[in-house]
Formats: sequence, structure tokens, C-alpha cells
Amino acid sequence: MDRKKLANLLFPRIKDTPDDLEARYPKRNLPDGAMVTRLGPSPTGFIHLGNLYSALADERLAHRSGGVCFLRIEDTDDKREVEGAVPALLSALHYFGIDFDEGVGANGETGAYGPYYQSARKDIYQCYVKHLVAQGKAYPCFMSEEEIADIRASQEQNKENPGIYGTYAKHRDLSFDDVVSRIGEGEEFVIRLRSEGDDQRYFTVTDAIRGELSMPENVQDVVILKKTGLPTYHFAHVVDDHLMRTTHVVRGEEWMASLPIHVQLFEALGWELPVYCHNTVLMKIDEESGQKRKLSKRRDPELSLEYYQKEGYVPEAVREYLMTILNSDYEEWRTANPDEPLESFDFSAEKMGSSGTLFDLDKLNDVSKNVLARMTAGDILSFMLQWAAEYQPALCSLLTANEDKLVRIFDIDRDGPKPRKDLVYGRQIFEFISYFFDDHFMIRDDFPAECSPKDCKEILRRYLAGYDPGDDNSAWFGKIRTLAGDLGYAVKPKDHKKNPELYKGHVGHVSNVIRIALTGRSASPDLWTIQQIMGADAVKRRIAEAHGLFD
Ligand code: GLU
Repeated sequence: MDRKKLANLLFPRIKDTPDDLEARYPKRNLPDGAMVTRLGPSPTGFIHLGNLYSALADERLAHRSGGVCFLRIEDTDDKREVEGAVPALLSALHYFGIDFDEGVGANGETGAYGPYYQSARKDIYQCYVKHLVAQGKAYPCFMSEEEIADIRASQEQNKENPGIYGTYAKHRDLSFDDVVSRIGEGEEFVIRLRSEGDDQRYFTVTDAIRGELSMPENVQDVVILKKTGLPTYHFAHVVDDHLMRTTHVVRGEEWMASLPIHVQLFEALGWELPVYCHNTVLMKIDEESGQKRKLSKRRDPELSLEYYQKEGYVPEAVREYLMTILNSDYEEWRTANPDEPLESFDFSAEKMGSSGTLFDLDKLNDVSKNVLARMTAGDILSFMLQWAAEYQPALCSLLTANEDKLVRIFDIDRDGPKPRKDLVYGRQIFEFISYFFDDHFMIRDDFPAECSPKDCKEILRRYLAGYDPGDDNSAWFGKIRTLAGDLGYAVKPKDHKKNPELYKGHVGHVSNVIRIALTGRSASPDLWTIQQIMGADAVKRRIAEAHGLFD
């Protein structure tokens, strides 16, 4: 049959040839070794940690090598498209420090390789489909869903591999007239690839993360163009990554199984394969079973990026943590280079893990503590203000009215070789310092059991009587020791440890009565410093109020 005629019958509108497109999307002018990467999310509205994990790898690979990282929206599956998904995706990625050089952006599309929405590239895909049909490498298939279901059922019964291949590919060789008459009757069709593959033959590709992969060739006549005229993922990504001159395709390992199809498509089109980098799924240890399992949208709120924004994680902390799970030697590098920006790290695909990456919120929290410990109090304040404006509007005016006080609070015990590390993320930080604000203050912890109510009352009475805001730290603590000694508590904790029978408790218990009265908690940073920040009036008021509790 005249394949060209068939191609023209199926795609009368398409005038461009593959050569036209090659000329329109020329090779990029980049230095040797520069990588071109892309993120290809579907606009489903749910942006998750896996997207960010992949995006960070894309971004690092491109920018470490002087290349380009672009954003392409894979929206050929119109059923799944959610309105507002693209701006949400852009803003979430931007929040975590991922900005693209090219492609879909907040102000439209930039770059010479667009359009960057797959749905706007219909004619480009059809040009190549037409070309494949003209070469006899693809064909229209009119099989109905019922026919396909029947084939599948009989394959299942005969224990054969499911799918449309070999003799099951019934429309491989329809005559031209048959095609004309079916189209005339309004029958819908898809375009399938005519597979030349043999599943007894193996091909190999080198995956940058997993090394050499050897897989059987694809035998299925896969659909490359759907009834809607839009391509399947397989076909779209092959065409786009070729024309957009992507050098490295970083994507989830769930795509590895379809690699034989992709390799076959690149071959059929006569194009060079990009370097595939199949990354791993993010796993967690299930709280109940103790087993490793995939993070799930339904069960794990921490899979969503919004979770980190709402909780108030500083973006650097999330990036820093993701770097530790992306490249195994990152942590070691960070320990040796505490003050370097993460961009200085020698990131590579080869150092990425190839089996389920464990995501651990506790570890993220540890990383976050370190990141916050490296920030200035002023930077933490700016972050808190921004976070509150977006996610905790009720706290905004309180924070804004107390900026100086907050800087002093965040500065407690920050200087020196071992800064305090109790700040983790926005919500936790506010909660941690909330006792500084009367509206949020409450007594949460129990007064120490070593101090009877009568003693508590006496401690608070005497403390208030002797309180002098002008005392320096050692004069202040001297008074607490005297007080402790007078009431039968050991002045030094170790004396109490040695001879517990001689004392009611020790000076730490006494100072904790004061600490709880002032902060509501039995653990806090340095209490003298806290009082300096609170101010004498608030100190006196809280001590008096706590004293009143023991009436
Ligand atoms: N649209 C695909 C997805 O959302 C992207 C896969 C790829 O990066 O090639 O999973």
C-alpha cells in the first residue's frame, strides 16, 4: 500500500516535515559537558516531595555543569488537569529555591524550544507520527475497547502475555480502502507503533544512576497517538526530549519498565538516546508495622510540599535535607564545609541511590536545627514574619510588634562554638518561644515533686522579694543558691546526688520552680537571659501569679 497516501489521509493538516522541525529546534550552543535537564510534571494539582527531589537533581545537574534546566508541563492527559495547578507548582518550587532557566514560568513561557505545554505541541507530535506512518513504522488501529478487552480475556485464559502485539495487532495491515471507509463511517482510531522488537533479544543502556541496564526488547504495538490526537507519555517525551535537546532525563523509577518502548521509539525516529537517570521512590518507615513503605498521598501528609510550607520549614533546610538523601557523601561534605553554599557541592547522578530512598522527618528536623543555627537571628525573624504572613495571619501583628524582642529571643545562646539548636520550624519555633507573650503563656509542666507546695510558695515569695533586675547572671544565681540552702536544698546538685537523704532536693529544683513560674516549662534556655528579655514587670507579675496558685 502507498504509505505516504495513508499518512496524508490521516494527517492532511500537517505540512511540516521532520527536517523543518530539526531546523526550528537546533542543537543548543552550550559548552562541552553542559547538561540539559527538565522537570516534566503533570498538572494534577498535587505537588509532592518527589517532584522537589527530582527537581533538585535536575537543577543541580544542569547548573553544576553550566547547562540549562527547564520546566515542561505534561498535560496531554486532559482528564487529570486541575485548574491553578501550574501556578501552584511554580510557586511551591520557587519557595524551595528551584527556578527554571527556561520553559513555563510565572510570567508565561520563555526559551526557544517551546511551546512548553505539551498540549500546545499537538502538530509537532503529529508531524512525527505522520512521518512514521509514511515509513510504515506506525499505523492506525480502529479496534474498539470491547475488542481489546476480549483479546485480553482470551490471552489471560491461554496464559499468554497481555497486549496488542504479533497476531493480536489486527489492524497492522489494513488496506488503504478499508481505512478510508472506516474513517468515512466515523470510526475513531489511535496510532500504534509497528513493533519490530523481539523479546528474546536484549538491549542495554547505561543509566547514570543504576549503571548498565539490560532488558528485553519491546514487542507491543504501543499506542503513540490517542483518539484525541494527543500523544501518549511515551511518544511525547521522546519527541520533546529530542527537540528540546535534553541530555539527561531524570525521572521516577516507575518509568523504568517502559524504557524498552522509549528506546524503540528513539530508534524508530533515528535519534540519539538521552542519558536516563531513574531515581528512586521515597520511602518511610511505617509507624505501625516498622516496615519500609512508599510515602503515600493518602496516609502521609509530609509527602505534600504544602506541609513544609504550612509548618514553616525554612526552604534551605528542606533543600539541605534532600541533598543528604540525593547524594550519599553530602553529609560528610557538609561537616567539612559548614559555611559553604550547597551549590559548591560536587553533585552527580552517579552518586544518587538506586534503591528506595528513606525519607525521615526526624532527620529533616535535625538538619533544620543545624541550618537555623547557622542563620542570624535577623534572618530567622524575617523568615518568621514571611511565614506568619502567609500561613499564620493571626500571629502577624504580634510578631511585627515585637521585632526587637524576637531578635533577642532568637539570639539566646547563639554565639560561641556550640550554639543552641532548639529552633526547628516556624510552628515549633513560635510554640517554643510563646511564653514570652502573655496571650500564649500558660503553665504546662508540673512544679518539681521535690518541692512541696509550701516550699514552692516560699521560694516564689522570697525570690520576688529579693529580685533585682540589675543583678548580673552570677549575682542572680547566687541568690537562688542562698534561697535553696536556706530551705534545705543542696546548693550543688552533686552534693544531693551523694547524700540524697540530707536534702529535699537541690538548687536545680528550686530554680525550676522559678523557671516554671516564668516560662510554664521545666526546660528552657538560660533563665537569667530570658528575664532580661521579658523585662522586670513581666517577671514580677508572673512570679506573683504563680505564688497565688499555692494559696
Ligand atoms: N509527566 C511525567 C510524570 O508526571 C514525567 C515523567 C518524566 O519526567 O519523564 O510522571
